[in-house]
Amino acid sequence: MRIPPSPFAAGGVHTVLDPSSAAALTDVTLADLAETDAAIERAHRAFPAWRAIAPGERARLLRAFSDAVGSRIDELAQLEVANSGHTIGNARWEAGNVRDVLAYYAAAPERHFGRQIPAPGGVDITFHEPLGVVGVIVPWNFPMPIAGWGLAPALAAGNTVVLKPAELTPLTALRIAELALEAGIPEGVLTVIPGKGRVVGERFVTHPLVRKVCFTGSTEVGKGIMRGCADQVKRVTLELGGKNANIVFADADLELAASSAPGGAFDNAGQDCCARSRILVQRSAYDRFLELLEPAVTSFRVQDPRDEEAQMGPLISAQQRDSVAEQLDGADVAFAGRTVEGSDGFWMAPRVVLPRTLRDPVWTRELFGPVVAVMPFDDEADALAKANDTEYGLSGSIFTRDLGRALRVARGVDSGNLSVNSHSSVRYWTPFGGFKQSGLGRELGPDAPDSFSEVKNVFLSTGA
Ligand code: NAD
Repeated sequence: MRIPPSPFAAGGVHTVLDPSSAAALTDVTLADLAETDAAIERAHRAFPAWRAIAPGERARLLRAFSDAVGSRIDELAQLEVANSGHTIGNARWEAGNVRDVLAYYAAAPERHFGRQIPAPGGVDITFHEPLGVVGVIVPWNFPMPIAGWGLAPALAAGNTVVLKPAELTPLTALRIAELALEAGIPEGVLTVIPGKGRVVGERFVTHPLVRKVCFTGSTEVGKGIMRGCADQVKRVTLELGGKNANIVFADADLELAASSAPGGAFDNAGQDCCARSRILVQRSAYDRFLELLEPAVTSFRVQDPRDEEAQMGPLISAQQRDSVAEQLDGADVAFAGRTVEGSDGFWMAPRVVLPRTLRDPVWTRELFGPVVAVMPFDDEADALAKANDTEYGLSGSIFTRDLGRALRVARGVDSGNLSVNSHSSVRYWTPFGGFKQSGLGRELGPDAPDSFSEVKNVFLSTGA
């Protein structure tokens, strides 16, 4: 496995660990402030030529970039398994997602239409103008997809991009930047800058040449980014935390609801902003649901992420595992799944917990680990009240056989992404984002290039 080098060095070194064994994989050199500034200025200098490329040519370059990623799916997936502990199946999907997102937005340059609006005495037309340099800040939980969701529509809309991966997981982003160059994307159009949040990430916020920050990460850091962007009225998209409810009605296919619940909660070891980490079950079906849930949890395959059958690997770091374990202190654990014993890696068994009250931390906090809390509800109104009793609003699921109820409840839950009788949240061609403190703005879907451009209105007088 070839590990891509970082082109920066002055900001020190971060030793990247393999979370499945805690073994050191490589040292990644980090950018300091001066190197970050220089990279932002390079991206700024690359902008006029990139925005001026004919739409069809920009599209062709993005298709070539997509093909370059597509021809390296296995290589990128292996790198992600080693760096992030993702299961090999998930990691292949994630690399494929980058390929597909690039291909999807490669169709945008020739289709990013303005409008012609009736106006007396002339012709009124609108244009989508690119912003300039866009800063994308990526968390460690889905290093590849989240990078792609920011960079692909931003490039398609004619911007140049500086991208900061999380300190813990820089390797696939560095490789993707190499593939961009191989595909013919000009120097300076996409620059991956490994570095610290407080150095590189904050500089994206404070540097006046960065015209938009596209941030995915914790709600706490996101609030600071929003405050910082206010100083320059800088555009900002925030994709933040979640504490998502999976609402199971008594009329649902309970076998389906129970067998799919572990995947909805423990995929990526629960380190997923869309994890359905709260399950609300209608009281009359509560005992039966728990009976069905137990074997689904105990048979969930927690094993070496390189095994094709693995359903869950380790957590990202010792710190993350310890923080989840700490927050479980004193919790009422109904049952636990398997884990890997005798390894120095950051393993943890999935757990099902029964909160004692609506204010129990296991019910209210985003633990970001393989923990799901189950609570009964009485009727539709009670389900909605409990589901919405959170500052977050990212995703959620509804299990019922009643179509009318499915739609009523989906409309009633204050979340950006809901699924009925499944746990699907993300399709690159549909919009994704949060209500309330889960975020601001939307990513993906057909409109994403709009959020990386300004609308300009031009009126041409046709004379008297
Ligand atoms: P984090 O907020 O600590 O870090 C995210 C990124 O921001 C990292 O690259 C980090 O280096 C950078 N950063 C940290 N401090 C910064 C600062 N002061 N200025 C600028 N950048 C800074 O989050 P994390 O622990 O890496 O990721 C987990 C969090 O991300 C969870 O809360 C999760 O819910 C959230 N998340 C949300 C979504 C979504 O789409 N809504 C998706 C994935 C993850």
